[in-house]
Amino acid sequence: MIFEIDGDKLVLTAPNSFTLRIVQERFLPEISKRALPFFSTPPQIELRIEKRSAKSNTKFVPEVAVASKPTATIAAKPAKSPNKLNPALVFDTFVTGKANQLAHAAAIQVAETPGVAYNPLFIYGGVGLGKTHLLQSIGNLVTKQNPQAKVCYIHATNYISGVVRAFQTKNFDEFKQFYNSLDLLLIDDIQFIADKPGTQQEFFYTLNSLIDTNKQVVITCDTFPKEISGIEPRLTSRFTCGLTVAIEPPGLEMRVAILLQKAATSGSPISEDVAFFIAKHVRSNIRELEGALNRIEAYAKFHKRQISIELAKEALKDLLAAQNKQVSMENIQKTVADFYRIKIVDLLSKKRSRIIARPRQIAMTLARELTQLSLPEIGNAFGGRDHSTVLHACKTIESLRNSDSALNADFNLLNQTLRG
Ligand code: ADP
Ligand code: MG
Repeated sequence: MIFEIDGDKLVLTAPNSFTLRIVQERFLPEISKRALPFFSTPPQIELRIEKRSAKSNTKFVPEVAVASKPTATIAAKPAKSPNKLNPALVFDTFVTGKANQLAHAAAIQVAETPGVAYNPLFIYGGVGLGKTHLLQSIGNLVTKQNPQAKVCYIHATNYISGVVRAFQTKNFDEFKQFYNSLDLLLIDDIQFIADKPGTQQEFFYTLNSLIDTNKQVVITCDTFPKEISGIEPRLTSRFTCGLTVAIEPPGLEMRVAILLQKAATSGSPISEDVAFFIAKHVRSNIRELEGALNRIEAYAKFHKRQISIELAKEALKDLLAAQNKQVSMENIQKTVADFYRIKIVDLLSKKRSRIIARPRQIAMTLARELTQLSLPEIGNAFGGRDHSTVLHACKTIESLRNSDSALNADFNLLNQTLRG
């Protein structure tokens, strides 16, 4: 048996299918438990058969079987099948706060009265903030209330594959029929259909047909619909004809609430002190918060110790060390102001002249890259600006760096100076 760590996956390679089956049937729970301390989140375990021996055993086609049949992929977490509802993602386990209240309320309403309230419901926000969780919760609630309802959860990348397959096999009628017959379509991460005109056209028809027949559609996306580039305007305008709601990064108290809830449901509750400690150091998103908590829980189990701030510090040592090396906002603002020979007060002011505004956008972009601060936090540090202003600044600088080599050189120099 060969054990390999591949990103957040544990890959076990068995010499033959017999061993594979034994391991699969008897030892997976134990292996997944013992593997915990090596991962930041419970790892996916993938079972493979060593190529050489698989070939020599002609009676078996395990390579194909393993590759095409995900039965050999066992996740320590509830399985996340790409097209199915995950029963673990329900409203009951979704913690609400200022950052997601609106999205949560809209999702509940849509689940209770599908096709009536807002159609489509469009939920957007950054990674790891709970978009998929909400989307799946809608599906689970609708299914619970009406087991006959035809519900489809699909990630946009799988939808695209579906379109491609329909093209290849000339089965477009079937494809269309399937989507048009749904009562509820939940499509996740729609930004992936950018620059795929065929898929967009197909989705445009499906969307219209469902909405026209009062069938509910819920869409998630990583940005505001009008900001996704590479999507036809007729489609983005259709996205916004229902209700568009944002999910923002959670504030400190909400992060604490989420940690307390997750720890309580995982069976190893933590104190508020510990929750505050984690929440102060893990700010970017909820997925990372979960990762940090899992790491701490695994570390405590492994060393047979109680969870304390001391233990949390040890378990998150690498993460904290990386943070200490991080650049402060003050340092970024001072370095950029010095470099462009402008005053820091001007950098933080509302002045819009280009000699001030451009360095400000550069400083915001550097802050995004070099600190753990969220978009609203960065906006705040620049004289109380909105998160969308920061996002716009980052996008502007990103595109200027491709077209303006002098600006790109300045940016790289500043970046290197700040990283030290
Ligand atoms: P996104 O789809 O926006 O990238 P996910 O929905 O996958 O984010 O959320 C990332 C992780 O955080 C998931 O495990 C999810 O269950 C959890 N999560 C997100 N938001 C909440 C919340 N408000 N309360 C509890 N758990 C949450
Ligand atoms: Mg998601």
